Amino acid sequence: MKSGNDRTLRFTRYAVQAFFMLVTLWIGWRFYGFVAHFENPSLPQVERPPSVDAFLPIGGLMAAKYFLFTGIVEPVHPAGFFLFAGIVTSALVMKKGFCGWICPVGTISQLLWMAGEKITGRRFVMPAWIDLPLRGVKYFLMFLFVMAIGIAMSPNMMVLFFLSDYYKTVDVLMMRFFTDMSTVTAWTLAALGALSLFYKNFWCRYLCPYGALLGLASMLSPFKIRRNDDKCVHCRACSRHCPSQLEVEKLGVISSPECYGCLTCVSRCPSAGALEMTVRVNEGRRKVNPYVAPVVLVAVFYAFIVLGMATGKWQTAIPYEEYRRVIPALSAGEPGEAPD
Ligand code: SF4
Ligand code: SF4
Repeated sequence: MKSGNDRTLRFTRYAVQAFFMLVTLWIGWRFYGFVAHFENPSLPQVERPPSVDAFLPIGGLMAAKYFLFTGIVEPVHPAGFFLFAGIVTSALVMKKGFCGWICPVGTISQLLWMAGEKITGRRFVMPAWIDLPLRGVKYFLMFLFVMAIGIAMSPNMMVLFFLSDYYKTVDVLMMRFFTDMSTVTAWTLAALGALSLFYKNFWCRYLCPYGALLGLASMLSPFKIRRNDDKCVHCRACSRHCPSQLEVEKLGVISSPECYGCLTCVSRCPSAGALEMTVRVNEGRRKVNPYVAPVVLVAVFYAFIVLGMATGKWQTAIPYEEYRRVIPALSAGEPGEAPD
């Protein structure tokens, strides 16, 4: 197995991230074309890309609860359910690898802090007294969403919500959040972008409730990075390069919910065998090839997409005629009300 500043491992991750970024852009472009046809019927009809439901994580959370209670996949944004289930399962199996390898927001955040380091020649670190409470914000937001959906919404209430015009067009509303950006949204995104230039993964580290949920799930993952003190030369390359600012050099087994499973630490370690990807076997841990991580991660993620397709529930059940009603109504400023 290769060891000692493994550039191939790093570039493998960059390639996977680039692939998923291109897939995201393609999905966005297709969805834009899908909506444009209903706003202007002279434009060609474009098939709706179901994966756009990935941008509705709260809908995915609701759909997951609805499925647990009823055994039914909600039919309006069903791909959102499969993607949500796939992403949470990927964290249970392969840590927060979704954040580190697949999520386009994580990739943009990474590009921004890398650009920030190039521009300033510095690494900025939030003081611990701000960093710690700020990190709690994403868990608080996650708690609010889980309470609102997990406790407050009954399956019957969800059915009303799923059938509302608001939910049918929530994907269009999400698109317009970016394409018809309000001044407040633009300034908020600009501020987040600016902060992300100076502070590594500002959004992911402090604000993303999805990442918080995946972080908690990742603690159950059998895969963990382990530092072998007898082989470690304490160069601190792992700690310096960790995008989560974990003190890898001082830890044994990395079980933090902040770990993205990005393997940057493993790829940067110059001492053969000092940092390894391991899997729990009975009471102990067995070393595994680090390339197993992206393979397992992507396999779990796509397994749920294949499951959705194989069960015939991947595509929305909303017929063309219904979209002809709800999208122009939304464009005319008549958004459906979300039920109370
Ligand atoms: S500990 Fe290693 S795998 Fe985890 S976030 Fe840091 S660099 Fe990535
Ligand atoms: S684990 Fe590797 S990168 Fe980290 S301090 Fe030890 S030798 Fe350096």
